[in-house]
Amino acid sequence: MSTAIALALSGHRVRLFERVQKLAEVGAGLQVSANAGHVYAALGMGEALVERSVPPDRWIVRLGLTGEQLTAFELGQPHLELHGFPCCNIHRADLQAILLNRLIAVAPEALHLGREAVTYTEDTNGVTLDLSDGATERGDLLIAADGVRSLIRRQILGPDQAEFSGNNAWRSVIPAERLPDDFMPTDHVAWVGPGRHMVMYWLRNRELMNIVGIVEGETDVEEGWTVRADWREFKADFDGWHSDIQAVIDASDRENCFRWALNLRKPVMNWRTERAILIGDAAHPTLPYIAQGAAAAVEDAAILMRVLAEEAAVPELLERFQSIRAPRAARVVESANRMRRINHMANEGELREAISRSADLFADRDTWLYNYNPMTAPLTP
Ligand SMILES: Cc1cc2nc3c(=O)[nH]c(=O)nc-3n(C[C@H](O)[C@H](O)[C@H](O)COP(=O)(O)OP(=O)(O)OC[C@H]3O[C@@H](n4cnc5c(N)ncnc54)[C@H](O)[C@@H]3O)c2cc1C
Repeated sequence: MSTAIALALSGHRVRLFERVQKLAEVGAGLQVSANAGHVYAALGMGEALVERSVPPDRWIVRLGLTGEQLTAFELGQPHLELHGFPCCNIHRADLQAILLNRLIAVAPEALHLGREAVTYTEDTNGVTLDLSDGATERGDLLIAADGVRSLIRRQILGPDQAEFSGNNAWRSVIPAERLPDDFMPTDHVAWVGPGRHMVMYWLRNRELMNIVGIVEGETDVEEGWTVRADWREFKADFDGWHSDIQAVIDASDRENCFRWALNLRKPVMNWRTERAILIGDAAHPTLPYIAQGAAAAVEDAAILMRVLAEEAAVPELLERFQSIRAPRAARVVESANRMRRINHMANEGELREAISRSADLFADRDTWLYNYNPMTAPLTP
């Protein structure tokens, strides 16, 4: 939707084909750092984003078993002052509503729900998209933002499968009244330990606590945001961990406990054919360890909009877009993978040392990740 809004605002006629029949609320949080926030602001959604978000003060890493703080990284006022936009923790449903309202305002006819893209053919004049209902649609350019299991990616890059990352994610959103008073400051807390970690942060004016518990495991879990699982397994996965972790697990809705498999692909540098391009998770799926997968997709939206405003043939513009985006996206993916290896270290001494040696993974985010403004950055790799 971000890309559709960006392109509609710059004068393109956009059609967005989404396979689900109905946009449903996804009950989980999302962190939007300044690098993505600039794009929302430029597309007319900055105020709404800030209004509905909770700005975290710090990103804190604690030992999961004892709660000992290993490191803390500023995300509050310093993030705003350094990068010109606050870090925003928002409920995914709220962000979806903001995007949908904006899309309807700028391109009322663009969204086509219940339309699944299957394949495409291209020629020198344009591209034809085949949909699963048998219809075809014609345009100048096909932008495939169809996620980690992208069908269009298969056509562009061949039949490589998304691989199970070895990580399953528990998630829950807990009403504040089910937690002890003054349960946690307004921080983003990562509790780390052998083979697992848990992230907690507040949403919606601190009315909801977002938790994600990521555990190394088998590939027996289905992928999807709405896969229910047995709460007792969630509890067992964090057995013996700090009392704050027990408090959130105990307060989570036992009948609506969700777990899903996290999938991954190795970074690739080619995302395109002559008139089709992959963006977002379809191009560069990212593990959630540095909270940047969606931010990278939104960076794609901004850079694509800016590159398409230049004078050149479509294939040349796509090549330019990909040469700017692919190296940065690969760095984000690798950075998230590295954080995973550290967060889940089995040996506490090694974990401490790795965290203390990993200044670049935290402080350096201000110098290459959050400080990037895709609306103004030079259009160079
Ligand atoms: C636990 C967890 C926490 C995360 N936290 C953060 C965070 O804090 N910050 C952050 O920036 N990122 C975060 N991410 C990553 C982020 O969720 C993803 O990177 C982001 O959703 C990717 O967006 P996308 O639009 O590329 O793909 P998706 O969100 O997967 O959207 C793809 C869309 O395409 C549709 N679709 C699929 N196939 C077809 C088809 N053939 N035809 C038509 N439509 C189709 C799908 O229905 C879907 O709506 C997190 C991820 C996880 C798992």
